[in-house]
Amino acid sequence: MKRDNNGENTVSDIIPLSGVEAFDLETDVLVAGLGGAGASAALEARRAGAAVTVLESSSGGGGSTQMSACEMYLGGGTRLQRDLGIADSPDNFYNYLKACFGDNCDENRLRLFCDGAVEHFDWAESLGVPYKRGFYDGRDVVAMTGDSLQYTGNERAWPFVEMAQAAPRGHLPADADHSGGLVFMGHLLERVRESGVNILCDARITALVQDEQKRVVGAAARIDNRQVLIRAHRGVVLCTGGFIMNEAMTRKHLPTLDGIATRHGNPGDRGDGIRLGQAAGGNLINMGEAFVGIAHYPPAQLTYGIFVNEQGQRFINEDVYLARLGHYAIQQSQGRIFMFIDNRHFERPAYLNVDIVAVGETVEEVESESGLPAGNLQHTVDYYNQNAALGQDPLFHKASDWLMPLDEPPYALVSYALDQIKPPVFTLGGLEVKPTGEVLRPDGSAVEGLFAAGRTVAGIPRTSAGYASGMSVADVTFFGRLAGRQAAAQS
Ligand SMILES: Cc1cc2nc3c(=O)[nH]c(=O)nc-3n(C[C@H](O)[C@H](O)[C@H](O)COP(=O)(O)OP(=O)(O)OC[C@H]3O[C@@H](n4cnc5c(N)ncnc54)[C@H](O)[C@@H]3O)c2cc1C
Repeated sequence: MKRDNNGENTVSDIIPLSGVEAFDLETDVLVAGLGGAGASAALEARRAGAAVTVLESSSGGGGSTQMSACEMYLGGGTRLQRDLGIADSPDNFYNYLKACFGDNCDENRLRLFCDGAVEHFDWAESLGVPYKRGFYDGRDVVAMTGDSLQYTGNERAWPFVEMAQAAPRGHLPADADHSGGLVFMGHLLERVRESGVNILCDARITALVQDEQKRVVGAAARIDNRQVLIRAHRGVVLCTGGFIMNEAMTRKHLPTLDGIATRHGNPGDRGDGIRLGQAAGGNLINMGEAFVGIAHYPPAQLTYGIFVNEQGQRFINEDVYLARLGHYAIQQSQGRIFMFIDNRHFERPAYLNVDIVAVGETVEEVESESGLPAGNLQHTVDYYNQNAALGQDPLFHKASDWLMPLDEPPYALVSYALDQIKPPVFTLGGLEVKPTGEVLRPDGSAVEGLFAAGRTVAGIPRTSAGYASGMSVADVTFFGRLAGRQAAAQS
């Protein structure tokens, strides 16, 4: 086994079939990783009649999916949306997601997802996951009311509000607050176990076996400190999560974020599947994109404040989702951003530790105490206030619900500098795959016998600018299922 820059054992090994004397185990479909994507793939492959074995490198399944709130971003008129009287359609859902990812999206994948989301929610409920028929209409990262439907993205913010009819699409397990992942994965893993999938824990996939035609026909895993070779007659499905825990990879692909990120994931997010897929011929795409979250709410009233950069200038409409703020914050000089707010709206953000850098009875006092360029903050606030009084935001189009002049002293300037708040980051790049999971080479041909899903691939969410809470788990489970079925269908 080789060593990479990080000193970590690499998994980028390919074993030629000609070098294999005998396999230790045989299966039809071999799934690597028992998180959201892997469990979904394993269950669907098994339900399609295949013998399935799962390798999980930690001592139990769940992965980052289990750590998450397991909000799923689904629309198009799901049973939950319909039961709560919410109007949405597959086309409206598509238009919203297309607005989120623009040119950086795979339209075939998006169409499949938008047309299949209604059925996918039924599938999640059929696993036994409880969803409460309650709609939370507030502005929070996760509804803390036990309700299962909420707005989680930029649906009501400019420019998205002009591109699709706003609809709430965050589907949360009932009464779970931030622990929906435990509920969701508890039910999903139970269904996987019942279905007769062979689960091997403390079993890290370390290599793929390829025949002379470069078809993947099996894999090697480290189990009980020895190499175990597994023959996979129909295919191997890589679902080992993203690479946010692999410092060598984040230094290379996300250099701006490497030093400031709070690495948001489980220890298994080492990029193993990405590197194995690449070694087998797979193409990597979108590797420089990541979710960057700056939870500037709750409380919702902070949305009335304005964000400025170190030039004292606004750069965003503050009613956006926290990952869109993250996307634009990293583009500001030194990653230094501040919230200017008055006494009427001041509060501390619930999820962030922030420093107040200046307070004053006038904007000028705040400006001089903070050291921002003289006159700039004053100009920004004057212009904002004049327009807010008229219910308009000509520069960034914040919705009128959140516009009120900031005119009640004392005033504060609060630092949200990225190197201080260290925003949570997880990766959005990986293997290029067909929507049905086949791993693609740079020339567009498929690596036979090799499939992948979840954060091991570049899926629906491809930039923090358009991300909404729930897009990752919805993507990993939806496309995990497709990859499992596709692998099972091979002869
Ligand atoms: C705290 C937190 C909250 C979040 N909340 C949400 C949310 O509410 N909604 C949302 O959409 N997203 C959320 N996310 C992001 C989301 O949880 C993940 O992006 C998503 O769950 C990843 O799913 P996955 O199946 O690709 O990977 P995982 O669920 O991480 O599964 C990968 C599995 O592969 C295993 N593995 C790794 N390497 C190997 C190997 N070599 N061999 C065998 N097994 C291996 C890992 O141990 C792991 O069990 C959250 C993330 C965090 C950390």
